[in-house]
Amino acid sequence: MITYPSFYPQFRCIAGDCPDTCCRGWDVELDEETYYSYLVAKGPFGERLRGSMAEEDGCFFFPLTDRGRCPFLNAQDLCDIYTELGPERLCRTCREYPRSFAGAGRYEQADLSLSCPEAGRLFFDPATDVSFVTDPDGGTGEFAGRSPADETSLNALLAERDRLLAEPFGEADAARLAEDLQANLPELRTEMQAFRLLDERWTAVRAETDAWQSRRNGSVAADAAAFFAETPEALLWFARLRDYFLFRYAIDGFYEEDRDQNPLRSAKRLTSHSLQILLLMCLTRREHRVSAGEPFARSDMEELARLYSREAEHADENLQILKKTVSP
Ligand code: SF4
Repeated sequence: MITYPSFYPQFRCIAGDCPDTCCRGWDVELDEETYYSYLVAKGPFGERLRGSMAEEDGCFFFPLTDRGRCPFLNAQDLCDIYTELGPERLCRTCREYPRSFAGAGRYEQADLSLSCPEAGRLFFDPATDVSFVTDPDGGTGEFAGRSPADETSLNALLAERDRLLAEPFGEADAARLAEDLQANLPELRTEMQAFRLLDERWTAVRAETDAWQSRRNGSVAADAAAFFAETPEALLWFARLRDYFLFRYAIDGFYEEDRDQNPLRSAKRLTSHSLQILLLMCLTRREHRVSAGEPFARSDMEELARLYSREAEHADENLQILKKTVSP
């Protein structure tokens, strides 16, 4: 059985037309099968592969160049491994990205990371169907070995998650989100500062949100109300974002939570926290747009969600910082 957002099968990488690249900012982790196949690759390209690989604590990877890029990302932002050896010889990380998989026992889920611009474009397009579908016969079986300790608890957690996903996100939820952001501004700032830097653009995000807070004296309500009032699509964006985070974090919670007490506690807190950071980023960007006499656009939302996702979702230590902050 597999559950995924309806638009998941629509995704196609746009490669050379991509306004960003997924081959920068994070080391490319190599699965064992790929690592051993590269060890015996022939010719000068095989030599290049072997000269670019490293191992740490039993994990194999391509360390980034001094410019923070994958060593196989060429000047045209295309992949030399893809060109030289073909797509089937890419490592699992590169074959799957931006697809993300999780599961327990017979249950599997898949979605697309918002760190990819094309996934973000589809996700925020109002014409895209982002509702979740379940294929009872689908799935790879790869999580069968990770059997849930208690299938009844897993089913209860998934039922509760689906109930929350079915709840609408309206003006009252947006107002509550602004109140939570107001209350948590100091800790959000500490958290954003503490993230290990994966993308140099995060430095600018931190500096801009800090400057915005100083100018606003930490007062959020009026700006948040104006943002949602002026930006007709914003409620839809935040509704979708809420579902995106909840879907991702709920299954994590199955393994980390006291399931019998409150199965989704951590997922709900992480979701709210992520939405607060994104709202803070939106309010900061909105101020720039207002001074330039321009509206806050969907492309702004796509870019901010991309930057947040790149920073928070692709480094385990950053995700742990978020989890630590929201733990009771
Ligand atoms: S970020 Fe997305 S669209 Fe861009 S190259 Fe990577 S997978 Fe393709």
